[in-house]
Amino acid sequence: MKSAPAEELRRIARAARGLLEELAEEGVDHFDEMAAAPLAEPEEHSGAVPEPATPKSRAPAQPPPPAPAPPPAQLDMVEAPSAWGDQSSLEAIREALGDCTRCRLCEGRNEIVFGDGNPQADLMFVGEGPGEDEDLRGLPFVGRAGELLTAMIEKGLGIPRSEVYICNIVKCRPPNNRTPLADEVSTCRPFLDGQIAAVRPRVIVALGRPAASLLLGRSIAITRVRGTWHDYRGIPLMPTLHPAAVLRHYTEENRRNVWSDLKAALARARGEPQ
Ligand code: URA
Repeated sequence: MKSAPAEELRRIARAARGLLEELAEEGVDHFDEMAAAPLAEPEEHSGAVPEPATPKSRAPAQPPPPAPAPPPAQLDMVEAPSAWGDQSSLEAIREALGDCTRCRLCEGRNEIVFGDGNPQADLMFVGEGPGEDEDLRGLPFVGRAGELLTAMIEKGLGIPRSEVYICNIVKCRPPNNRTPLADEVSTCRPFLDGQIAAVRPRVIVALGRPAASLLLGRSIAITRVRGTWHDYRGIPLMPTLHPAAVLRHYTEENRRNVWSDLKAALARARGEPQ
């Protein structure tokens, strides 16, 4: 029979592992004071989720930033009704967005990154917010994470990227790629809701914690909810890992999980049996 302390130790180890996995997913890959073992070593590629364009190398440890990071986004947990109705078009929503100055993110942006893809897509991907490349080009997911997402769609799922619709919960790049803040997310939300109402996809894939938390209406741990079906205003919603998180933690398990989530999303969008 197992002794109680041994059980307790196992329970603590499991809880610690869960916490480390969540930290890893948020981008924490080292601790300054304490050497931490990697959560999982990259393993042989499964072939399901394609390799990134350039081999992943571990980034050199950065000195800690001088100022504390901004508080994490308390995403808008209130179910806001869409003001757009069913008749809206992407053009009308883009026009309403205009040269937006509704929140502070306008101050540092080069381009508004509204969205990209098929206005009648069955499959819609919602990410967090534009990064540097997206901000320069005015298109979502065109940097390194975007290359992986594009490869997952095109090489993995076997459909052209132009067949799906891709956007973000905020349309302007947050400074230093920080997580968008609550007020930024809620200011931009009507435009995301408008895009969803206009495209009316059969399935939404939420990429990463901020997008999934917003669409689920509660703060979630992406590792817990990924791979399970939810609903956003009657549209099946599949949360999965953000491609940037997959790049940071390029493990067999992460690639397998995202691959299985995307396959399930495409099958459902096509009305295939699950
Ligand atoms: N990450 C996102 O969440 N969105 C982008 O458009 C690019 C990177």
